[in-house]
Formats: sequence, C-alpha cells, structure tokens
Amino acid sequence: MAETEEKPPLHLAIIGGGVAGCAAASWAAARGARVTLFNDGLPLGGSCIHVGTFPARLLMNAASDHLHCKQPRFAGLSASNSGLDWGALNKERRAASDKLSQSQYRLLNSQPNVEIIDARAQFADPSTLEADGRRYEPDRVLLTPGSHSTWPDVEGIRDVDAISLAALKELDRQPESMIFLEFSISSVAYAQAFGRMGTKVTILTEKRRLFDEYGSPDSSDLLAEIIGDDNVDIVFGAHITHAEPTGSGVRMLGTLNGRPTHWDGEKVVVVDHRKPQVEALGLRHADIDLTDQDYIVIDEALQTTNPRVFAAGDVIGRGSHAYAAAYDAIHAAFNALSQSRMAGHNTAVPFAIYTDPQFAGVGWDEIRARKAGFQTDSATCMLDQIPAARAMGHARGFIKLIRDRRSDHLLGARIIAPNAAELIMELSLALRYGLTVDELANLVRPPVSLGEGIGRAARMLVGGRGRPV
Ligand SMILES: Cc1cc2nc3c(=O)[nH]c(=O)nc-3n(C[C@H](O)[C@H](O)[C@H](O)COP(=O)(O)OP(=O)(O)OC[C@H]3O[C@@H](n4cnc5c(N)ncnc54)[C@H](O)[C@@H]3O)c2cc1C
Repeated sequence: MAETEEKPPLHLAIIGGGVAGCAAASWAAARGARVTLFNDGLPLGGSCIHVGTFPARLLMNAASDHLHCKQPRFAGLSASNSGLDWGALNKERRAASDKLSQSQYRLLNSQPNVEIIDARAQFADPSTLEADGRRYEPDRVLLTPGSHSTWPDVEGIRDVDAISLAALKELDRQPESMIFLEFSISSVAYAQAFGRMGTKVTILTEKRRLFDEYGSPDSSDLLAEIIGDDNVDIVFGAHITHAEPTGSGVRMLGTLNGRPTHWDGEKVVVVDHRKPQVEALGLRHADIDLTDQDYIVIDEALQTTNPRVFAAGDVIGRGSHAYAAAYDAIHAAFNALSQSRMAGHNTAVPFAIYTDPQFAGVGWDEIRARKAGFQTDSATCMLDQIPAARAMGHARGFIKLIRDRRSDHLLGARIIAPNAAELIMELSLALRYGLTVDELANLVRPPVSLGEGIGRAARMLVGGRGRPV
C-alpha cells in the first residue's frame, strides 16, 4: 500500500484579540488549524470585555441592586441605603474585566496549536506579516483589529471636560451630572446605570427614537419611558454645534427642533463615534482595499481584495455589535480554512441590550418584513400578564412575536423583559430551524417561567389548537 503523506494543518494568523479574534481563534484551533493570534492595545477580549458590554452589564447590575435597596420592589421590604463607593465599584469592574481576559488567555494558550503574540502585527507584503521584529508567512490571515473612538464634529469639544465611553473606567469619582452625546447600545445601559446610582443624566441625540434600527417603535418608546424614569432625560432632535467650559462643568450648545438652546452638565461622554483601526496594519503593502470611510472592503464571504485575507468585526463597517463580530469571525475563519463561501451575520443572530429590563430581538421586525413582501401579523404579551414577571416584581415590558401569516413561520421577535437576552435564544432557534408559531404555542414550558409569555403570545396568534410538543 502506498504511503500517504499527511498534509500539515493550515496556518491561520489572526490580527486582533477582541471578541471576533478570540472567537475565530478558538473555533479554528478546535478544528485543528495552527493559529497565531496577535494582540496589542486592549488586553485579550478587546472592547466587549474591557469597554463595552461586560463592564456596562456589571455596572447595570450593581446600580440595580443599589436602587432596589432604596426602592424595594416588594411592599413587605423596607427601604435601606446600600451606600455607594464609586471608587471601589469601578476597581471591581476593572478587576472583573481583567480576570475574564486572563482566563480567556489561559484557555486559548493551553491549546498546543495556538500561539498568542502580544505585539502589533502588520503586513510587510501580501503574504508576509511582521510583529515584534519577526516575520510570519501564514497560509491565511484574518483581520479583526476592531475600531476606536474619535471626536465628533462639535466646536470646542476637545477643550472641555469630555471623555469617551472607554475612558469611563478612569473616572475617579461619580459625577453629579453627565451629558451623553448621542447613544449606542451600551451607552444607554451606562446612562441608565449612572441614573440609578443618582447621577443626573441627559442623553442628547439628533435621532427621533432609541434604537430605530431594530425597527420596533413600540420597543423604542417603552424603553425610552423606562429609562426616563431612572433619572435619565433623553432629548430627541437635539443638534449640538458647540461645547464650552462653565465654572463647574460643560455647556453644550445647539438647537432643539431648530430653536437655539443649551444643556449644562459636570461631564460630557462622547458616544458612537467609532473609526476602524486600520492605520498601522500596512494594508497598502497587502493589496487590501478600504472603503471611503476606511473600513476593509469584503465580499459576501468576508474575503478581502487579497484572496488569502479575510476580515470580520468592527473593522468591516457593518455596525459595532459584539454578537455580529463573533458570528462573522467564525464564518470568516471557516471560509479561510475551507475555501467555502458562507455568508456571515444574518437575521437569525439575536441582539441584546443590557438595560434593565433588557431589550433583545431576533429576525425581522414588522416594518421591514412587510416591506419585504411578507403578510405579517403579530401578537404582544405584556409582562404583567406573565405570572413569573409578577413574582419577580417586574411589570413593564413585553414579548412580541411576528409571523408570516401565510406559512405560520416565525419571522422575528422583540422582547423587553428581565433576562430578555436569555429568553431570545428560544426564538432564535425557532427561527433558525423554521418552527411555526403553532409549534411554539404548544411547547410546554416550566410553570412560572418568563418563557410562558412566549407561549401566550404564540397562542394569541394561532388560537388554542394543536397538541403539546
Ligand atoms: C463602549 C462600547 C460599548 C459597547 N456595547 C456593546 C453592547 O452592549 N452590545 C454589543 O453587542 N456590542 C457592544 N459594543 C460593540 C462591541 O464591543 C464591538 O462590536 C466588538 O467588541 C468588536 O469586536 P472586535 O473583535 O471587532 O474588535 P475589538 O474588541 O476592538 O478588538 C480588537 C483588538 O485588536 C487589537 N489590535 C488592533 N490592531 C492591532 C494590530 N495591528 N495588531 C495587534 N492587535 C491589534 C486592538 O487593540 C483590540 O484589542 C460596544 C462597544 C463599545 C466601544
């Protein structure tokens, strides 16, 4: 029998150890690839662990505990003061991010086919990388260098006490008042958390609704109302042109619905101005094109204009979302290693926003589904109709299902509820595997669980027919 020569595993180099790079590294290593992961700047885990979702969520939980001590949700409990030591809380939050990052490092590094290089990498030519004075010639490269914040076009903003969301972790004391300039998915959680901790918060935005991109006006309006009750004033339609220092803080000047006005606060937090981190990658040596806004040009398979190089995460300009970054990165690694052409992030990937209650969704919203030609109908189960929500002392929120009336298939869902990020997975699976709303209606769920609200909304759509699944 002729001896067969075993092919060596493909070598995948990944530049950027954020949520995208780490997800791809762990996926590719588990499938036998040799992986070299370069990371520099933020520690492993990137923005999600050190700046965005994780710290915002931790702070939100702490702020909620603080609030519920002062304002218990049950009449049988009396109010008490939990005390709030901002310095200690901020230190705890930084330590929690570091611990998570270190355990991620250990997990990846313990795999024999993964090498983590703590250095900045760049292209020397289309197939060679340089880092820390060494050269690498991987078979494929995945670019996941993320994005960084920049300053908005507001005159004087650099001369006042303004910081980026990333710099919140450097705050040495809790401000009495803060102005958030614009909003993003986790700045809203930060804003609500500060509001719950007693800071007077103002969100100034040119937009007319929160999270309009999720196409769910009822969710946007309810969320704005809930957050508004947490010491957060959301000013829609505000156009800011100037910033100037006052004796005690900052004045933001502009117009509200066309009329000149201003807002004062102790500190300004600049949100939502992200730029792709492409400056130091040597892309011009590697035949990799950029869009006119400096995002990396990719095709539907996440392949760049250099066929050996793929890209995912914030750097491709499809929005700044941890869930999409990880999903795309795994698909990009798969395509890079197998020469397949799977597309990335799609509507069956759920999103979650860690306000309290959380806002999560998956799939089509009603407006876009109709525009795409579906005949939709929808049903909304309000939280106060769900026994579990009452037992938890939560009454505001809902579970909304949207279906295709002709086929009875689920098209999408929007949830505002405690643990919505967990609840949405049932609906993500339903969407992914083509379940009908009738099947969802007949699933038996644990009694007094929030999931009963999904069953109730489904039964509103299909009536009481069918048998238990
Ligand atoms: C304040 C904030 C709040 C957010 N909140 C949410 C939220 O609630 N929900 C949500 O879904 N998303 C949220 N996001 C977005 C989410 O964090 C990002 O979409 C996601 O983290 C992007 O991941 P990434 O891997 O593409 O990039 P990053 O996480 O930025 O990681 C890239 C890493 O690569 C490193 N790097 C860059 N260039 C090089 C190089 N040449 N060599 C080596 N290393 C390099 C960087 O320093 C960084 O460590 C938030 C983002 C921010 C900033």
